[in-house]
Amino acid sequence: MKLLEYEAKRVFSEYGIPVPKGAVIRAAEEVAAHLPDLGDGVVLKAQVDVGGRGKAGGVLMADRTTAAETARDLFSREIKSVPVREILAEERLPIEHEYYVSIAVDRSSGQPVVLFADAGGVEIEKMAEEDESAVRRVVVSPLLRDIPPFLMRELLGGAPKELAPVINSLYHVFQGKDAMLAEINPLVTTSRGVYAADAKLIIDDNALARQGIAVNRDLSEREREAEKHGFSYVELDGSIGVIGNGAGLTMSTLDLIEFYHGRAANFLDVGGGADQERVMHAVKLVASMPGVNVIVVNLLGGITRCDEVAKGIIAAGVAPTVIVRMAGTNEEEGRQLLAECGYRMLESMDAAVKAAMEVAE
Ligand code: GDP
Ligand code: MN
Repeated sequence: MKLLEYEAKRVFSEYGIPVPKGAVIRAAEEVAAHLPDLGDGVVLKAQVDVGGRGKAGGVLMADRTTAAETARDLFSREIKSVPVREILAEERLPIEHEYYVSIAVDRSSGQPVVLFADAGGVEIEKMAEEDESAVRRVVVSPLLRDIPPFLMRELLGGAPKELAPVINSLYHVFQGKDAMLAEINPLVTTSRGVYAADAKLIIDDNALARQGIAVNRDLSEREREAEKHGFSYVELDGSIGVIGNGAGLTMSTLDLIEFYHGRAANFLDVGGGADQERVMHAVKLVASMPGVNVIVVNLLGGITRCDEVAKGIIAAGVAPTVIVRMAGTNEEEGRQLLAECGYRMLESMDAAVKAAMEVAE
């Protein structure tokens, strides 16, 4: 479960990480009451569950005279198609330098891995692509309560030592909250000390009960819809929708997208024996997520018949381009039906994913 920035900052603060003074507002008029606490410079940040809000117009600078007007403006926006219902109004920090730090589980060793970069704010993937040495990485034994000093030195390189306690506290958050990811981007230095200017915290869904968090608390409308139909459905943050039958095929499709540096928006496993009706619901559901502009349908026909699938896709009649790869029972009939309605059916999973990437770009 991914927390919103203000929820994550509340947790960080409990663990002693300095965060800017701030308040959550749900209407522009509410900002006035908080201005005395926030000082002259104010940052207004849309509390939406998308990355890169800054670039997408979801983080606006204001001062006490423009705060209400700017909040009104922000409430009227959609950030990557997500409407703004809550804004975090914060004091504006006099930032000297922005750093990046994150802690995640290293898949190969199964241990926490800490990433640190001297340049924060920008996307870490881009940074690593452009200059691999810009990102430092250490693996910490999960048995340790703290990041050992020698690893911390390796991580920081020439960066200020005052960052160390904050990074160590982030490690405590990561351990204490059963996190999959704890990230501060940017972690900033100011004349008043170090602050987490942004906060991201994803809690392992398997640990929600232990963390005392009610499961299903925040299911989106689409997730509830998926549950109703018995689909396995997960949302990510790219632009390619994925539909498969069976966990293996669905995951392989995702892996292939990743391999070609694409980003899936979501994925849905329709399960076994999907008929026309189920396929139609699946396609509609995947297409209804904002930001999806192409859908890869990758199915193996067995009990599932390709002609049924084709009819379901056609019946869904959605706006995003649907690219199909299927093989098996009644494949030819399926191909025929799809071709008549102008859908592309490709021979291999590889070709289908590549075609989707072209549309996505
Ligand atoms: P994201 O784009 O969703 O990751 O949102 P961030 O919270 O990281 O904000 C985007 C950018 O806004 C940051 O990289 C900072 O450069 C800038 N920013 C955020 N808070 C402050 C602040 O308090 N003062 C200043 N000067 N800049 C800020
Ligand atoms: Mn950020």
